[in-house]
Amino acid sequence: METVFTRIRDKQIPACWIYEDDQCFVILDHNPIVKGHCLVISKDPTPTLAETPDARLAHMILVAKKVDAKLRACLNCDATNIVINNGPAAGQEVPHLHIHVIPRYQSSSLAISFTHEPYKPGEMADLEGRLKL
Ligand code: AMP
Repeated sequence: METVFTRIRDKQIPACWIYEDDQCFVILDHNPIVKGHCLVISKDPTPTLAETPDARLAHMILVAKKVDAKLRACLNCDATNIVINNGPAAGQEVPHLHIHVIPRYQSSSLAISFTHEPYKPGEMADLEGRLKL
């Protein structure tokens, strides 16, 4: 399936490239949450984690680790958010697996926050049983 990222991969549309190998590539997100926000993108356009071979996932997280180190060294950020929006209901806009690596600064007031959904009595223990891997 063609996505905006396959078009970038195939150099049909421009992007700011940080890294490329046989399995993935890294570009700057053009609408960054924080400047330097990078995307580690699978070359093969599997939509989510479930369709992606384990070896490629493992490789991509190691590339994300390198991006994290580079952002810390180059931009002097204090931390990063490493995020995968894994399906449309999770906010994934491009159905082509990618890892966001977002630089974060101690001094920043930016909040990337979720609301919380408290358990009813017994619900958490029930889920513990149902979710055992
Ligand atoms: P997601 O919501 O996880 O699918 O994130 C998709 C990300 O891709 C968003 O943060 C977009 O800003 C980014 N994006 C979409 N098109 C481009 C593009 N042509 N170049 C760089 N980043 C892009």
